[in-house]
Amino acid sequence: MIVVKAGGNGDLDIEAVCHDVAELAQHGEQVVLVHGGSSETTLISEKLGHPPRFVTSPSGHSSRHTDRKTLEIFTMVVAGRINKLIVEQLQQMGVNAIGLCGLDGRLLEGRRKSSLRIKENGRVKVLRGEYSGIIEKVNVDLLRTLLDAGYVPVVAPVAISHESEGLNVDGDRATAAIGTALQADRMVILSNVPGLLRDVSDEGSLIPHIPVEHVQEYLDRYARGRMKRKVLGAVEALRDGVTQVVIADGRVTGPIQRALAGQGTVIAQ
Ligand code: ADP
Repeated sequence: MIVVKAGGNGDLDIEAVCHDVAELAQHGEQVVLVHGGSSETTLISEKLGHPPRFVTSPSGHSSRHTDRKTLEIFTMVVAGRINKLIVEQLQQMGVNAIGLCGLDGRLLEGRRKSSLRIKENGRVKVLRGEYSGIIEKVNVDLLRTLLDAGYVPVVAPVAISHESEGLNVDGDRATAAIGTALQADRMVILSNVPGLLRDVSDEGSLIPHIPVEHVQEYLDRYARGRMKRKVLGAVEALRDGVTQVVIADGRVTGPIQRALAGQGTVIAQ
């Protein structure tokens, strides 16, 4: 059982990812593919006259303020265009893919964070009407039913709140939640970098292996910005039963095969 996250902010070679998924599926491997879509959401939001508002928390984390309209645009882009293009691509390769987001069958259920504490011009403010959240529950029966029937689930990072509202959730954390719930053997996180780098501006500075007991050290020392969530997701998944997580390059041919062969940053027990 392998759970793959296809990120990469538009640099990802989605055809190459689908090709590898098809190959794994043809060899009888059960695969779940999770994808992102925040950069395309930004583009479409601008075109629709509702540009994104990025805010900074008092501790310095940057995130998108997901108001109701942004949630609807996000859902349209990730659960619509991106999800269905991936399903189309996989179907053309002979894979019976099925596209879902976390709203469908309550696949990903979480707690809504309805307000955000932000820091703006040196002052802390509370921003209300937020539709993002943290996943607390995965409908693992639904995933197993689909996998056992031979489908390849393709999951968009929209969750459902306990009150049944849509939520914008982080794709890396969604991948970790799914990997954990399925007790996947391996998780592959594809991005637009070769893995965790000692120096973000030098792609040759890849950290090839991190023993899980030292992961916090590496996290504090090297991971910045959004890379932190990938490493944090890996830590959660490894703590809860996943055997190995590889953070690897999604811009190359054979990205999943390469990651499974150990090219990237391998985090293991
Ligand atoms: P994705 O869209 O694939 O989820 P993100 O943009 O969220 O990708 O995260 C990957 C980004 O994390 C890289 O493009 C890089 O700019 C940033 N980053 C921060 N610190 C590091 C690091 N130590 N090694 C690699 N990338 C890092």
